[in-house]
Amino acid sequence: MESRKWGIVGGGIMGMTLALRLTQQGHKVVLFEAAPEIGGLVSPWKMGNAEWDKFYHVILLSDFRTRNILKEIGLEETIEWVETKTGFYMNGKLYSMSDTIEFLKFPTLNLFDKFRLGLTIIIASRIKNWKRLEKIPVTTWLKRWSGSRTYRKIWLPLLRAKLGESYQKTSAVFIWATIQRLYGARRSGLKKEMFGFVPGGYKNVIQAFKQKLISEGVEIKTNYAAKEIKTSGNDRKSISFTNEKNEEFDEVIVTLPSPLASRLCSELPKTEIQKLNDIEYLGVICVAVLLDKSISQFYITNITDSNIPFTGIIEMTALVDKKYLEGNALVYLPKYVVASDPLFNQSDEEIKDYFIVNFKKMYPWLSDTNIKFAGVARAKHVITVAKLNYSESLPDVKTSIPGLYIINTSHIKDGTLNVNETVRVAETKLEEILN
Ligand SMILES: Cc1cc2nc3c(=O)[nH]c(=O)nc-3n(C[C@H](O)[C@H](O)[C@H](O)COP(=O)(O)OP(=O)(O)OC[C@H]3O[C@@H](n4cnc5c(N)ncnc54)[C@H](O)[C@@H]3O)c2cc1C
Repeated sequence: MESRKWGIVGGGIMGMTLALRLTQQGHKVVLFEAAPEIGGLVSPWKMGNAEWDKFYHVILLSDFRTRNILKEIGLEETIEWVETKTGFYMNGKLYSMSDTIEFLKFPTLNLFDKFRLGLTIIIASRIKNWKRLEKIPVTTWLKRWSGSRTYRKIWLPLLRAKLGESYQKTSAVFIWATIQRLYGARRSGLKKEMFGFVPGGYKNVIQAFKQKLISEGVEIKTNYAAKEIKTSGNDRKSISFTNEKNEEFDEVIVTLPSPLASRLCSELPKTEIQKLNDIEYLGVICVAVLLDKSISQFYITNITDSNIPFTGIIEMTALVDKKYLEGNALVYLPKYVVASDPLFNQSDEEIKDYFIVNFKKMYPWLSDTNIKFAGVARAKHVITVAKLNYSESLPDVKTSIPGLYIINTSHIKDGTLNVNETVRVAETKLEEILN
């Protein structure tokens, strides 16, 4: 394709990657971001004097596309790799489940149940043809391989925690993709897992990425919230912004979640708008807590007790040295909910109180004096619900308006939501468009 002028709406990892690859191929690119800074979901925030990602992020050894980008922006060698442990909170007690011996000692399941649970994980990790799993509900698939007792005691609470009631519509691809990703993090079988992070967190990644984009010629415009995209003369597309500015391009890529993208592209035919609006998303409400000491040795603590409001506990400082957080421990308490969930209407104070009361129930030694900071981060459109035959219902990234494309993380058909998959979608879909 000859050199064209491209406008990209959305300055998250998707938009940044698209901008980088386009400019490297000789195109002129302008990247628009509504917020004062690019970064989107990987953006940092201040917690007292400490600064880290608003939402928790780790890099896996198998995240080759993320690592490749980090190499290009000069950060790959700085990644710190750490062996981490996984915990389980079940019936009011905390268990370690980080190796085969701990797995065998794990209570509430008998040996036969454990054998079936282990077998389910091995089977999922060996399956290559994910397409056929799209036709099977995740509930059916898990019951088939793990049996109904293990399903009830382990899988169902985990599905509910991760997907809310949307688990009932979800296909087996969800659990397959989750197991594939986590299995890849372990060097073999149910052994140790290695996670990585860039010192300083994604803040440093965004800064280095931004410098790279600028040096390659990308124009970055922040505080530019797109309002509408319309066709103008000569096959060009015009983007209007809430700051009353207007810009014209040969090609436009929208990277926002599908229901937001459909609102911007009102000239699309009704059938295409409908397809975009039919993609269901889960959002996340995540309380970040800085503590004067660690709560456990686990990076992830899965929670199967339904009376705890959050999905799990992520202790970032089980991975990241406390020196990066002014000597504090950093813990995230996430909950995944649909955008219409009443929790989204509650104030930060109400959410903090509700989550922290339950956090203290899990760790009775915790008191307010241990808590140095607590903040609430929210995002309404984060993960798409992988319904039955999901990949077949997805709209094409090329819309029916020539030169208008919608590329977002809904196109992760056979993976979990993460930066590596986001980069994969950006790179592969761009190749599709350009060829
Ligand atoms: C709780 C949580 C935990 C995660 N953990 C991990 C992890 O451990 N490892 C990992 O690799 N990944 C993880 N991820 C996933 C990772 O954050 C995402 O894959 C990635 O950030 C998605 O980037 P994106 O560009 O597609 O979306 P976004 O980051 O949402 O980018 C969209 C951008 O568009 C902007 N925008 C919105 N409306 C407009 C408008 N009208 N005009 C202009 N701009 C607009 C937004 O401000 C935003 O910057 C996690 C995500 C969450 C939420």
